[in-house]
Amino acid sequence: MPHPLRSVCVFCGARNGSKPAYSAAARTLGALLAAEGWRLVFGAGDVGLMGEVARVARHAGADTFGVIPLHLLQREKGRADLGRLVVTETMHERKKVMFVNSDAIVVLPGGAGSLDEFFEVLTWRQLGLHAKPIFLLDIDGYWAPLTALIDHVVAEGFAEPSLRGFVTPVADVARLAQALRLALA
Ligand code: AMP
Repeated sequence: MPHPLRSVCVFCGARNGSKPAYSAAARTLGALLAAEGWRLVFGAGDVGLMGEVARVARHAGADTFGVIPLHLLQREKGRADLGRLVVTETMHERKKVMFVNSDAIVVLPGGAGSLDEFFEVLTWRQLGLHAKPIFLLDIDGYWAPLTALIDHVVAEGFAEPSLRGFVTPVADVARLAQALRLALA
C-alpha cells in the first residue's frame, strides 16, 4: 500500500518579521515538507514567511496546495506554479478549504491574520469539530505571549484546562519534524 499523502497546513505571516530566524525557520520547514513527502497547504502567496516556505518547498519537490481569495491575488502575489491553486471568494472560504485539506496545522510567527487562523482552528478543536493536531512553531519564543494568554484564559475560568492540550508549542523545526512524524504516522 502506498503511503497516503499527508498534508500540512501552514499558517504564517505575510511579512518576514524583524528577525532573520523567522525566515530561516520558514525555509527549513519548506525543505522538511519536501524531504518527508508531505504536501504544503498554504495561503498561495509569494510574500513574507508564506513565500519563504513555499519557494523552498516547491524547489525541493514538495507538492503544494495554495488557497487564496480573488481580492488578494495581486496583493499577496498569488503563485500560479503550484500543484493546485484554489481561488476563493472570501477569507472564510480560504480558511475552510485550507483546513479541510490538511491533516495537521502548523503556525509560524505571523500577525493578526495568523492569529485569526490559529484561533479559528483552536476553537473548532475546543468544540470537538475536529481532532487535527495544532503546532505553534515558537521560534525565539515568539509565541510565548500567546501560550501565556491561553494559560491565563484557563486560570481565570474561561476555558477548560484541556484547551492547553490542543496546542503543542515546538521550539524549532527539528522538534516539529519529530512531532509531525508521530502525528502523521
Ligand atoms: P498576517 O499574519 O497578518 O501576516 O496574515 C497571514 C495570512 O493570513 C495572510 O495571507 C492573510 O491574508 C491571511 N488572513 C488574514 N485574515 C484572514 C482571515 N480572516 N481568513 C483567512 N486568511 C486570513
